[in-house]
Amino acid sequence: MKISAMAKRLSAAGQDVIDMGVGEPDFDTPKHIVEAGCSSIKMGETRYAPTAGIPELRRAIAEKLAGENGLPVTPDDVAVTPGAKMAVFAAIQALLSEGEECVLIGPSWVSYEPCVAFAGGRVSWAKVDENFMPLDLAESISARTRLIIVNSPSNPTGSVFDRKVLEEIQDLAVDHNLSVISDEIYEKIIYDHEHISIGSMPGMAERTVTINGFSKAYAMTGWRLGYLAGPKETMKWVTRLLSHSVSQATTFVQRAGVAAMQGPQDEVAMMAAEFRKRRDMLVGGLRELGIACSLPGGAFYVFPDVSHFGGGDAFTDRLLKDALIAATPGSAFGPDGTKYVRLSYATSQARIKEALERMEKILS
Ligand code: PMP
Repeated sequence: MKISAMAKRLSAAGQDVIDMGVGEPDFDTPKHIVEAGCSSIKMGETRYAPTAGIPELRRAIAEKLAGENGLPVTPDDVAVTPGAKMAVFAAIQALLSEGEECVLIGPSWVSYEPCVAFAGGRVSWAKVDENFMPLDLAESISARTRLIIVNSPSNPTGSVFDRKVLEEIQDLAVDHNLSVISDEIYEKIIYDHEHISIGSMPGMAERTVTINGFSKAYAMTGWRLGYLAGPKETMKWVTRLLSHSVSQATTFVQRAGVAAMQGPQDEVAMMAAEFRKRRDMLVGGLRELGIACSLPGGAFYVFPDVSHFGGGDAFTDRLLKDALIAATPGSAFGPDGTKYVRLSYATSQARIKEALERMEKILS
């Protein structure tokens, strides 16, 4: 937030700031989705909808989760939310009570810890290796642990968990009777890796809440549309929370969601292909500058280790002040993030090239 405010001030003063802090695709929402939303509002679908979502969207989501992700989900197990963030918030409130612990695996998305705090819980941070895979996960589990959050592909690291890593989490969850939240919002932005939903693995359906949304795959961040599916008892609390807070996701936005899921998927693939080119360009460029950077398997972030350049906070300050590049310091993502910086490549190849040239100047 501090960096973003500084970047805005500099831009307003006429400076050419390259924004690599953003967490949203730079593409427009595909036209057929926009049209579905517009025609719904014109048709007068401007009234309340059922709390858990319109039946057509819940059905489309259940079919997707069953068909693509192998989850034993029916429309009754699904709730639509205004953004996946609300799904994360609601699931954590439903699953965690005062004094209980939630495991976060290495540098993790900024909103998980505050959501855990809202529930009166606390976070236990699990260590990760240099590729952001969990290390000694069992050590982060105590008698108070109730929940593990899995986010693959990950924000901020871009790492993707393979089946072996997910099996380790599965074993621990079953042995310790833990719930799992699987935040799969970057599912469609994945390169050379298979996306696996942990909820499809043996013994996991009854303890996993799967979360996804439209923001990243369909470039719909401002529409606010997400969803979750999970065990009946959990979904009962989630629906209560929605009912007494937001009521439901916007009715005509849900129609746009149906069009997104049931319409052509070629733009989703096109965006992922473009993100991949940018990833290769950015990772290659950073490595040439002597910055250690693991190759992310998904999402649209790189998370290079800048400990040789003063660490994440100092490097981020320097990037903005000396190169007019806005980035996010790794410390925003938890105690293990301090030596890193998160650079988003949700910006054009021309801007990435320019950013690399500016970095070269300040580092040489
Ligand atoms: N989970 C992760 C890991 C995210 O990065 C984001 C967006 N930054 C969200 C959930 C929330 O997405 P939205 O509310 O826009 O659907």
